[in-house]
Amino acid sequence: MSNISQGLVQIYTGNGKGKTTATFGLAIRAVGHGFRVYIIQFMKGRDDCGELEGLKRLQPECRLEHFGGQGWVHKGEHQEEHIHAAHKGFLRAQEIILSGEWDIVILDEVVNALWFELIPESDVFELLSKKPSHVEVVLTGRNASQALIERADLVTEMVLKKHPFEQGIKARLGIEY
Ligand code: ATP
Ligand code: MG
Repeated sequence: MSNISQGLVQIYTGNGKGKTTATFGLAIRAVGHGFRVYIIQFMKGRDDCGELEGLKRLQPECRLEHFGGQGWVHKGEHQEEHIHAAHKGFLRAQEIILSGEWDIVILDEVVNALWFELIPESDVFELLSKKPSHVEVVLTGRNASQALIERADLVTEMVLKKHPFEQGIKARLGIEY
């Protein structure tokens, strides 16, 4: 099995819907070519997201793990549980990326974890500097910093034009989670 010819850094950011789900599309495409994809979700405590079961159908080439505390994180009020979960997720991300055994490593919501200061941005830059050249790393989450945008090779910003939430429609099973 060949490697990805040139592993780059991608970011999906912005306040519009579609960042996380864009990465699942990437995973499907890559698995179709026999590549191996590891998805690490940060800041996700809930176990009822459809992707946990759905992506099992892409095993063993695709694996998903999620790390997160319960409830909301509030900026400046750093609940230990959230910091601890983000730290564990980041340790796993280091292990998976540096192993070189996974062609695409998706760090879903890591950008948000940086914004909430659950993980130091310098740790992410250091990890990116050490990533094997054949490994593609994909970061998602609102509010990507300018420095992170400059470091990436591909940056897409999802822009909110409309969301059913504004009509009072709550998160829907199978669509939002
Ligand atoms: P998705 O997971 O559907 O691809 P996303 O990753 O772009 O969306 P996040 O910013 O991670 O969205 O938001 C987390 C959750 O909030 C998701 O369930 C998402 O569908 C939903 N969501 C996204 N944008 C909005 C919005 N503008 N208002 C309310 N809910 C939203
Ligand atoms: Mg998301």
